[in-house]
Amino acid sequence: MYSLSGKKVWVAGHRGMVGSAIVRRLASEGAEVVTASRADADLRDQAATTAWIEKTKPDAVFLAAAKVGGILANDTYPADFLFDNLMIEANIIHGAHKVGVEKLMFLGSSCIYPKFAAQPITEDALLTGALEPTNEWYAIAKIAGIKLCDAYRKQHGSDFISGMPTNLYGPGDNFDLNSSHVMPALIRKAHEAKLTGAKSITVWGTGTPRREFLHVDDCADACVHLMKTHSEAGHVNIGSGEDITILDLTQLVCKVVGYEGEIVHDLSKPDGTPRKLMSAAKLRATGWAPKIGLEEGVATVYQWFLANKA
Ligand code: GDP
Repeated sequence: MYSLSGKKVWVAGHRGMVGSAIVRRLASEGAEVVTASRADADLRDQAATTAWIEKTKPDAVFLAAAKVGGILANDTYPADFLFDNLMIEANIIHGAHKVGVEKLMFLGSSCIYPKFAAQPITEDALLTGALEPTNEWYAIAKIAGIKLCDAYRKQHGSDFISGMPTNLYGPGDNFDLNSSHVMPALIRKAHEAKLTGAKSITVWGTGTPRREFLHVDDCADACVHLMKTHSEAGHVNIGSGEDITILDLTQLVCKVVGYEGEIVHDLSKPDGTPRKLMSAAKLRATGWAPKIGLEEGVATVYQWFLANKA
């Protein structure tokens, strides 16, 4: 058991959807939460990041800082997705080792797994096959992050762990249609179509790929749970254990938003990996389960969108 109470906890990436959810979740842990703005330290810059860590001396770190984006952004900016993520995680993990951070949790993504991994994907499927090309740059960086944690554990005895969340959605998501993930894109498209009275909304690809979704508040809760209870090499999947086709998700979003038009497909856009359902068994065995159902989650995010973005 690792207690966060009274600890100085750095949430790296606190302005992102996951980082901000972890900050909200930590409010009830009795920890002192510290954050670094871009002006304090550009996390891609080793000297700046090391200086900030040495000055701040956190006891624990949630490494939620990353360059993230949807299928098109990943495919369009491979150098940024590989370089930025490698630098951020190497700088933070090495810096945490230097100042003797007691516990660090690195966050990745389900795209680390082979494109055609057996479903539901268990943790041991890592590095057993070729990656999905549309996000392999991001995936390679995230695999390197897991291996960095394992290497520092093996060589230095560092208590560094890794969690791999599934496709997340929630308040504070990116709703820009060119760079967002599918959930915020669909919410925005359905909302705007409803407002303008458009006959249809356009969904990328065939609608047949299956994806697993988890509300970011559930993810943050799982992260805090693992930080407190888990200490092992390797990584843990963080998911809901259920998946849905993109077409069914679109229909669910339309229902929540109250849009009744048609759904048309833009087949010039990529489908990406056909299915990405992770096994939730390892996480469930630690005694954790998600609390927010998909329809309820989509409804709360739509309310957040209306209040903050619409
Ligand atoms: P992925 O899980 O890495 O593929 O990331 P995304 O969340 O970007 O995409 C998931 C699936 O949703 C892919 O099959 C996309 O083609 C599909 N999709 C359908 N419409 C959209 C859209 O408007 N935006 C995005 N990002 N994906 C969409």
